[in-house]
Amino acid sequence: MALTGIQIFKHLPQTNCKECGVSTCLAFAMNLASAKAALDGCPYVSDEAREILAEASAPPITPVGVGKGVRQATTGGETVLYRHEKTFFNPTLFAGTIQSNLDESDVEKLLKAWNSLQYERVGLNLRPELIALKDVDGNSDNFEKLAKLIAETSEFNLILMSGNVKVMAAGVKSAGFKRPLLYAATLENYEKMGQLALDNNLPLAIKADSLDELITLSDKLTEMGQKDLVLDSGSRNLKQCLEDQVQIRRAALQDQNRSLGFPTITFPSEMTDNPDMETLIASMYVSKYGGIVVLSELTPEAIFPLLLERLNIYTDPQRPMTVTEGIFEIGNPDENSPVLVTTNFALTYFIVSGEIEASKSPAWLLIKDAEGLSVLTAWAAGKFGGDDVGAFVKKSGIMDKINHTELIIPGYAAAIAGDIEEELPGWTITVGPRESAHLPGFLKARQQ
Ligand code: SF4
Repeated sequence: MALTGIQIFKHLPQTNCKECGVSTCLAFAMNLASAKAALDGCPYVSDEAREILAEASAPPITPVGVGKGVRQATTGGETVLYRHEKTFFNPTLFAGTIQSNLDESDVEKLLKAWNSLQYERVGLNLRPELIALKDVDGNSDNFEKLAKLIAETSEFNLILMSGNVKVMAAGVKSAGFKRPLLYAATLENYEKMGQLALDNNLPLAIKADSLDELITLSDKLTEMGQKDLVLDSGSRNLKQCLEDQVQIRRAALQDQNRSLGFPTITFPSEMTDNPDMETLIASMYVSKYGGIVVLSELTPEAIFPLLLERLNIYTDPQRPMTVTEGIFEIGNPDENSPVLVTTNFALTYFIVSGEIEASKSPAWLLIKDAEGLSVLTAWAAGKFGGDDVGAFVKKSGIMDKINHTELIIPGYAAAIAGDIEEELPGWTITVGPRESAHLPGFLKARQQ
């Protein structure tokens, strides 16, 4: 059970030295209790107190790392029930399923197709992370062979799925170097499966038939020394599984139930035969509160909307997405190419740069830091004023790249044109279109 702020305070040095960044030990204790500070923030905690306080400072839902390499990812580590309270931290991981009786050539084809499911959005590469290799016939040779093929020839990380410890050990032998998640320990096999995971330092999923059984298994495996657990409540019924997700999250965050303080895994792949319904079910578990979502297969029409939903849900609602201030070249511009300026709100940047690209008119795009606000909002908030924009153009270095003195500003910021002219004497300030969609026509018309 987590400690309260007052209980934590009793174990702190109580010297109020302020080195932890707050003015009193009591304030630090309160921050520790609400997961707003880490115990390492105080350099004077005794070893004895550190041991006692470790539990209080541990995240209520353990973050569990899965995989190695470019698609390595962490699930869990969440601290709030609702995204607007703070933010969700570690995005739901997506897995496609491969059955262990497939031919290697078929698996190679799948890997090639699934590897191409990558999408650039707001400067991020969106892609699924995992392949769930599912033992369907108890053949450990095939399981070992396909685990090796997936681990060695693809970027994907693995969930090894088998209730048979011998088959699982074969998979671990060939793919253990990639830190796969082992699925799953059950009441029947947990001692051997737990030992296999411990011996190889691998994360382990638990599959139970109820939340009570899940708690029992979680406690037994924790006692064995397993720290990286993932929970499957066992339900393949849509409503029951959703209720389980909510109950597990609430128990971990509100009741500080350590037995359920781990990320969950859900299986839309086992809840319906209808691909569209499977995608809908998966989208529900992205919102509430699936740490890992296993799909039957990865298709563009399913994974693309799910990746976008995940991006939205796991974006910090209190911090707008931004791009770096600076000069961006679009389509190999030269010294005669037009210069446009806009704000560093990521969506603004990607829409404007996309429209310029579509116009086939090379241009210089100046991105000014406006704290991630869109043009109109930034102007209204005084973060995209004429003086600021003019000063930014001067220091940006664009004058070394062009032999003209014209700046195109967004139509919504027309009111700042006069102030920019004062800041940039001799420059022509042209007011561009209000809507980005009109940029291609605007830029093409200037070329004629
Ligand atoms: Fe107290 Fe430690 Fe913070 Fe100093 S650094 S004020 S001793 S909690």
